[in-house]
Amino acid sequence: MMELWPKKGQLFVITAPSGTGKTTIIDIIRKKIEGIGYSVSHTTRPPRTGEVNGVHYYFVTRKDFEKMIEAHEFVEWAVIYDHLYGTSMSSVESTLSSGKDLLLDLDIQGAQEIKKQFPEATLIFILPPSLEILHERLQGRSSQDDTSIGLRMGKAAEEIRKCRDYDYLVINDDLNQAAREVEAIIIAQRAKTERRFPLVQEIFHV
Ligand code: ADP
Ligand code: 5GP
Repeated sequence: MMELWPKKGQLFVITAPSGTGKTTIIDIIRKKIEGIGYSVSHTTRPPRTGEVNGVHYYFVTRKDFEKMIEAHEFVEWAVIYDHLYGTSMSSVESTLSSGKDLLLDLDIQGAQEIKKQFPEATLIFILPPSLEILHERLQGRSSQDDTSIGLRMGKAAEEIRKCRDYDYLVINDDLNQAAREVEAIIIAQRAKTERRFPLVQEIFHV
């Protein structure tokens, strides 16, 4: 099917309050969906248990991150919970021009910046079933102290208020159902007439 794919890939941005289950869902999607790459961000925050350098993030020093900012290597970057996070331009451009779609895991500011630069990007917001359950999930995840959980809960309520600006809202209650919904969104976006029609034209000369 490779040759039937559009020549330029499309961007999918996923945002969720920290602890919602976004990384878990993205891990499932990366295994299940063909033709989609994942943009591995750079961050100055330390890795959590189970996180692998180059797979979940590139874990870099603040000094190296600042050098990348100066060299204009980021398509967007942000300060989140005292750490720096950024998406490198080269990974976005090389993936899209290879015809592959790309999944970006970004906070709200990052998602807005990408939408400005790539208006065709599809924005998906994942919500927890409730704030109480979000709190439980944050507690269940290793390596976070109470201050960090408090900060994340505060930011979560603020982020949820902005979810209306997204194209799709997915509630992560049952994990498999939520992953299926994200998968369905990606598949449906690929079949949009404005994306498929150029191929149809090529095949049928219409
Ligand atoms: P995020 O990437 O959004 O910060 P994670 O993927 O690290 O969140 O998930 C936070 C915690 O919640 C993890 O311990 C994960 O196993 C758990 N989790 C994720 N989705 C669900 C779900 N649907 N039901 C119960 N626990 C979940
Ligand atoms: P965490 O530390 O929980 O992995 O991520 C914290 C927040 O940073 C999440 O909201 C996540 O989406 C966001 N994030 C991760 N990578 C990037 C990035 O490259 N740019 C921006 N703007 N946000 C990011």
